Amino acid sequence: MIDLHIHSTCSADGGASIADYARRAQELGLVEAGLCEHVDFDPRDRSHDYLDLARYDREMAAARVRAPEVRLRQGVEITYQANLEAEIRAWLAGRDWDFVITSVHLVDYADGWAMVSEPSAMEAYFGEHNQSQAYLPYFEELLRAARSGLGDVLGHFDLVKRYGVAHYGRFEPASFAEEIRAVLRAAIEAGVGLEINTSGLRQAPGEPYPGLTVLRWYREMGGEILTVGSDAHRVEHLAAGMDQALALARAAGFTAVTTFEARAPRQIMIDDLLSRVTFLQPDGS
Ligand SMILES: [Zn+2]
Ligand SMILES: [Zn+2]
Repeated sequence: MIDLHIHSTCSADGGASIADYARRAQELGLVEAGLCEHVDFDPRDRSHDYLDLARYDREMAAARVRAPEVRLRQGVEITYQANLEAEIRAWLAGRDWDFVITSVHLVDYADGWAMVSEPSAMEAYFGEHNQSQAYLPYFEELLRAARSGLGDVLGHFDLVKRYGVAHYGRFEPASFAEEIRAVLRAAIEAGVGLEINTSGLRQAPGEPYPGLTVLRWYREMGGEILTVGSDAHRVEHLAAGMDQALALARAAGFTAVTTFEARAPRQIMIDDLLSRVTFLQPDGS
């Protein structure tokens, strides 16, 4: 298995050390595990200025010694904000990563609304808007993120449904087909991929970010770069739902998923990953 979306205690909201994840990854027989610590550029965000690069390097190096059988990748998940694009670009140019996830966590609402970290503000946002009013600003910002060409993949493509489904019911991509296809087109043109983020399986939507429809569109439009990640913030969630993610990728027409080393993509055949899992099951690991 493979998991390219993991947060350790190097992130403000992470609940396990890199060493703990590495140990667990080795137990699970993961071929690759990618840390992607939060980097946020908005001073109002609690992750702003939180990542300690020296500590991140130190903990990665120690974990690589402890779990030599797992290819540990060192990445970041940046929060894209159009108003801070120049700052983000300059920061990313300043150092090498294995991979960079570009995520939209905020939309420009009143004084800046934190989609992920401020539940009370989210209640107000969804309570005051109909579905289009709530979702469109998210997809508009995601379009700007895709066009920016920053990062290797867009994180949790339709995260806006995480809290939206409680207000508007099941998310139907067809209702936003034009906007979503515009994002997919821009991403493909910019060489930015997508990820299947399985945290949505554990959260209200009950399906990954994104689900099958968006993945099919992406594939039909020529999308090839596709990573899989659990968005684990604690060890129990490492690689959670990866079998479903790979099945979904295959159902959408993909034969391979992507990993990165030093920002260079490499395709891994889905069949190879699944045969490895089948091989590991008989002895109970
Ligand atoms: Zn995120
Ligand atoms: Zn994340």
